[in-house]
Parts: sequence; C-alpha cells; structure tokens
Amino acid sequence: MGSFVGFANLPNQVHRKSVRRGFQFVTMVVGDSGLGKSTLINTLFEHKLYDLGAPRSLANGSSMNGNANGRTVAIESKSADVEENGVRLKLTVVDTPGFGDHVNNDEAWKPIVDNIDSRFDAYLEQENRVNRSKLMDNRVHACIYFIQPTGHSCVPFKFLSPNPKMIDLWGVLHLFRLRPIDIEFMRKLHHKVNLIPVIAKADTLTDDEVVAFKQRILNDIAHNNIQIFQPPIYDLEDEETIAENEEIQSKVPFAVVGSDTFVTTADGRQVRGRAYPWGTIEVDNEAHCDFIKLRQMLIHTHMEELREHTNDVLYEQYRTQKLLSMGV
Ligand code: GDP
Ligand code: MG
Repeated sequence: MGSFVGFANLPNQVHRKSVRRGFQFVTMVVGDSGLGKSTLINTLFEHKLYDLGAPRSLANGSSMNGNANGRTVAIESKSADVEENGVRLKLTVVDTPGFGDHVNNDEAWKPIVDNIDSRFDAYLEQENRVNRSKLMDNRVHACIYFIQPTGHSCVPFKFLSPNPKMIDLWGVLHLFRLRPIDIEFMRKLHHKVNLIPVIAKADTLTDDEVVAFKQRILNDIAHNNIQIFQPPIYDLEDEETIAENEEIQSKVPFAVVGSDTFVTTADGRQVRGRAYPWGTIEVDNEAHCDFIKLRQMLIHTHMEELREHTNDVLYEQYRTQKLLSMGV
C-alpha cells in the first residue's frame, strides 16, 4: 500500500472535473468510545490529517479536542489539503465523542444531528449570497457508523458456557444484534447523511460470527426502514462496474480492522495489521477483513456519488424543509 489516499484514481470524467475545480470531501465517524474510530481514520488516510497539528474548529463554533489519553471528548474536525496526480482535494474528518461517554445516552444523537444541520445551514447561507461562485462545501458526505462487535456490552457467551456449539447459536441469535441506541441513531440520521455502518474491531469475531452478525444487522436495518448508503447498481451499463459495485454491496456492513502499526507476518512480510499469538490479521488483505472494500468505495469508486447524493437528495430535502418552515 503506497502513501496515497487514492482519490486521484477516480473515474476519468470526474477526475477531469475535479482537476479543474479541486473538491472537498467530509467524512464523519460515530460510535462508542474505544471502538477504533480514530485508528480507522488514521488507517484510511494514512496520517495525512494528523500531520497538520492542531485541529480546526467547527462550523457550529464547538471545537476540539483530544485529551491526554487521546480520547475524543468533543466533536472535532480536522482538514488537510491533499494533492495527488494533479487532483486537489480538501479532506476533512469529523470525529465525534463516544456515545458511552454521556451520562444520559438518550439523546446521544443530538449533538451529531446539530453538527450536520449547522453544516447544511452554512451551505444554504452561502447559496443565498449575491456572489455564489465559490461555495465551500463542508457538508458531511459520508458518516461511518461503528457497531460494537458484540452487540451488547457484556461478556460474550462463548466465554461462559461449557458447550461451545450451543453458545455460538446463542451468541448469534441473542448477542449479535443492533442495540436500541444504534437503531435510534441511524433513524435520526439516515435522511441527513449517507450512512455507512461498519462492524468495528472485526478481528475479535470469528468468520461465522461476522457472517451471522452482518445478516442480523441488515435485517434490523430493513425492519426499521433505515436507509444506508449502498453503491447503486441500477442505471449502469458497464458490466465491469456492475460487478464491482455488487462486490462492494455484498460486504455491507463492512467488517473492519484498523491499525496504525506495521507487524511482521509468519512469512516475513511487513503489513499493517494486528498481531495475535495464533497469527496476524492484515488490514489490507481482503481475505481478513473488509477494510479495502470500504476504502475503495469511500475514496476511489464512490466519492463522487456520495457527494452528489448529499447535494442532490439529502441537502435538497433539508433545504426544502427549512425554507418551508421559514414560510419562504
Ligand atoms: P475511538 O475511541 O473509537 O477513537 O477508538 P481508538 O481508535 O482510540 O481505539 C481504541 C483502542 O482499540 C486502541 O487501543 C486501539 O489500538 C484499539 N483498536 C482500534 N482498532 C482496532 C481493531 O480494529 N481491532 C482491535 N482488536 N483493536 C482495535
Ligand atoms: Mg477517538
């Protein structure tokens, strides 16, 4: 894996447009404390954002910062201007504090919704100016939602029962599912942002558990009429692209593993990953986790789609409602 973020490989047409204008992309990460949000951001963008020093403050005035143990204690936003192969991108990541950090988690979604709304408002305000030639697009284009790998915060049954077979079944049926807070969060946000749910720390689950958990999550999402971002397959003519998108879709919700560090595999390769007594989990290996597919969708194949959907659908809904509520 090179040191590229990778957006310069966007499909040609988009590429040309973007070369001319330069463009902005904002990713938000949300989920409980300790689920690996900051680590995944580092893994995705290869420290580009953290090389810049102090984070910038936000559209809604709230700001910073990580505390001494690196924990995120308030919504913070970091940006970097990146240029690859002549394509300019202003990349911003919005990191949010963990849900579990609040005394009352009932409205854990509220500051996040407020942040997204204030970014829409800032855009709307620019549109209403006389000179609209250079709009700053700080709207959130993608929201990566981290799902706890156990579903409930208790010891997995497999560590408790003497009969491993039975426990697996128990685990899958009762333990691995979305929590009410997950469902509520997604319901509050799916009309405002492209939601990309991921299973955090997937290296802590077996392959079978990942498969069963994914199915369970998709069922819960469908049952609750939650709309998540899926690479569109309709309207495509090119068979290669259809296959590529189907492949990405089949991995949703992505089971991800993040790591800042390089480890040595049994056969002597240096890889980004996590070392265990029984072997190494490689971040950039599709046989080990879905990190590559998430990265591909976010940065390579669907960055423009995410931006377009934010502008044409999500922002448009927000704008219409806002103007109606103002009696315009
Ligand atoms: P955040 O609070 O969500 O930002 O979580 P951090 O990124 O600070 O990570 C919390 C802890 O989990 C750190 O010790 C990380 O090294 C570890 N961690 C991060 N990602 C993973 C992962 O994919 N798998 C495992 N097993 N641990 C992880
Ligand atoms: Mg963090």
